Amino acid sequence: MKLTRRDFSRLSAMTALAAALPKMEALESGLAAQKFCWGIVGLGRISMGHFMPGVELSKTGKITALVSGHREKAEKQAAQYNVPSPSIYSYENFDEIRQNQEIDAVYIALPNSMHAEYTIRAAKAGKHVLCEKPMATSVAECKAMIEACRKAKVKLMIAYRCQYNPVHLKAIELIRSGAIGQVQTIESGFGFPIQAGEWRLNKKLAGGGPLMDVGIYSLNACRYLTGEEPGEIKANASTIDHDGRFDQVEENDGWTMKFPSGILASCTTTYGGDTGGGGFFKVHGSKGWIAMEPAFPYQGKHLTAHVGDGPDVDMPEPDHDPADFVRQADHLAECVWGNHEPKTPGEEGLRDTEAMSQIYSSAGLKGL
Ligand code: NAD
Repeated sequence: MKLTRRDFSRLSAMTALAAALPKMEALESGLAAQKFCWGIVGLGRISMGHFMPGVELSKTGKITALVSGHREKAEKQAAQYNVPSPSIYSYENFDEIRQNQEIDAVYIALPNSMHAEYTIRAAKAGKHVLCEKPMATSVAECKAMIEACRKAKVKLMIAYRCQYNPVHLKAIELIRSGAIGQVQTIESGFGFPIQAGEWRLNKKLAGGGPLMDVGIYSLNACRYLTGEEPGEIKANASTIDHDGRFDQVEENDGWTMKFPSGILASCTTTYGGDTGGGGFFKVHGSKGWIAMEPAFPYQGKHLTAHVGDGPDVDMPEPDHDPADFVRQADHLAECVWGNHEPKTPGEEGLRDTEAMSQIYSSAGLKGL
């Protein structure tokens, strides 16, 4: 039998689907026989305290490799997660992950300015990528990351955990259903008093101050709550405490955004002040309002709403940390096995980075 090129592509697609099916069926039954294998890049607070425990609790995932500059720390984690010694990598021999068939994807939880390099190196090694926010420290880096993953035919997902959280999804649903009428204005804030000595205060590693780290939660929320991209952006930045912490990055940022529909958003972020441990947002509509406070902590988020035609809403977060991380790990596995795009792809990180660049430029600081 002679196969045409068309028959051949159909056959290849069917073979790929057949290979993915047992995993998809297993996923649906909640018993993934073949696990989705993760390499963890950077063993810091978010990876060891949240993402790795999340993978352990996920339906699909398993930790099979570690990348760290500290061998002793890595060996301790390897013992905890049954990672074989040859699957512990350093930043120097990172590219050898290419030869490791026991890695499907990497989770990148390094200082912000290292996200682009390790995403691109992972893509070249043929691995899918879940990269922490902020995606990178410049618009050009974000574009290079997207291109590298596209070229290598690997998925790129940015770890916007709130977009996988049931309380945030409820807020979006209320707005889209018209329960609070036409949204008019949004306020949001997030910050904390930062300790001296953090890499987050080093411009080269962080790319900027609180906007890059926690202000991005408010920015991202305004975008997913409205479903629109900001048009005009006006911003200010300031430093009040001249105690050495803010020699390289700003202490506070404040910005307003005008969305195409006319919705106005007003946001602040700070490394000097306490925003109550988890930040907040308030959305004011023509028929009611939605408030979430705290809005962005790992657990304990709380949504309240006064809607036009129904009973008021009082929704505490139904589950606990690391539930947001479990959902993210399962989501990327599902996307890879089912061959669809992640809900928060590289383009989502790029849009935030473009907006943050505009915020910095408007505030008189160098853009990203
Ligand atoms: P962290 O300082 O606890 O960990 C950073 C890791 O990077 C450490 O293992 C450290 O050894 C390693 N590293 C490698 N080179 C380094 C260098 N030159 N300087 C400093 N550390 C270096 O940081 P973290 O809080 O885990 O943050 C890591 C990333 O995760 C950041 O991009 C941050 O924005 C993001 N993050 C996301 C969330 C979230 O909820 N999604 C929360 C916290 C942090």
